[in-house]
Amino acid sequence: MIVCREEEHLSHLVILSFSCDYSRKLHYVLCLLFIQLLVRMAVRSKGYPYGVGIWNTPFVGSKYKKDRLAELNRRKQTIDPSETLNPHKFFRIKGRFFSIPALFMRPFSFRMIMAISHFFAPVLGLAARLLEPKPSDGWKVPEKEEEQGRSLLHQSAQRCTSCGSCISVCPAYHITKDELVTGRTKLRLAEAMMNGAELKQAEAHSPFQCLHCGLCEEVCQTHLPLRDCYLVLEDWIANRFGSPVEIVQEFVEKLDSNREYIKDIFGLDLPEWSPDEKLSRVPDAERRSEGGRE
Ligand code: SF4
Ligand code: SF4
Repeated sequence: MIVCREEEHLSHLVILSFSCDYSRKLHYVLCLLFIQLLVRMAVRSKGYPYGVGIWNTPFVGSKYKKDRLAELNRRKQTIDPSETLNPHKFFRIKGRFFSIPALFMRPFSFRMIMAISHFFAPVLGLAARLLEPKPSDGWKVPEKEEEQGRSLLHQSAQRCTSCGSCISVCPAYHITKDELVTGRTKLRLAEAMMNGAELKQAEAHSPFQCLHCGLCEEVCQTHLPLRDCYLVLEDWIANRFGSPVEIVQEFVEKLDSNREYIKDIFGLDLPEWSPDEKLSRVPDAERRSEGGRE
């Protein structure tokens, strides 16, 4: 996001984004580079980046004067001496592999990379166009039975852009305030499981708090088959940690006490269930034909 200014008055707010696909790494990197080149052009036209962070380090001089930056740095050290908040991303950039890749993100080297990229922009632009996914390159969604769902979850996690759109529309998230119930985090959890990460039972069981309503699928920018992914993930978790009957029961009780809210805000009709029912998975909620978000 860039703000452009004329004299002391702000005149334009430009929001840059692109629909990325991590599975097409080269195309993804080129798109990212072009965004940075556009920011660079905007900065040269008296604009400045609205946010701060690792991608905006080359433009920090256009946003803050030196003394202001030093003051912010001092405040950060006072408030967050152990670098808990967004660590190593702005004032001191560090990373994996002895921080060697992070060297490229330092303002000086990043500026050099952009200057070189600017020079070669026509060639890079051509390469980006050639690499652009064609409509015929459509994703062949793996069946959820294939390799016990590994391909489906692996490819979906790769295609998830972490945009977060699935979070705000998720009724389970609004009821639980637990991000582990949302599409984005469930895909990350699946990746962690595939990579052999140690999980605590409580965090592994959170994803069962899901109505399988599909609202997340409707907003997903990469059109991921999220509900099929959840079914596979729940099966994996149940096989490793058992079915979380009590967690599901508690969640169902919370849903019960929020029936009207879920209907009014999300347009969902919850199924009827008996209070004593021991559910191992929450039954699917259905969209109402009128009202709600429709
Ligand atoms: S299916 Fe519904 S409850 Fe489950 S993650 Fe998606 S939006 Fe949330
Ligand atoms: S909406 Fe889709 S792409 Fe965006 S974070 Fe959620 S699952 Fe990922």
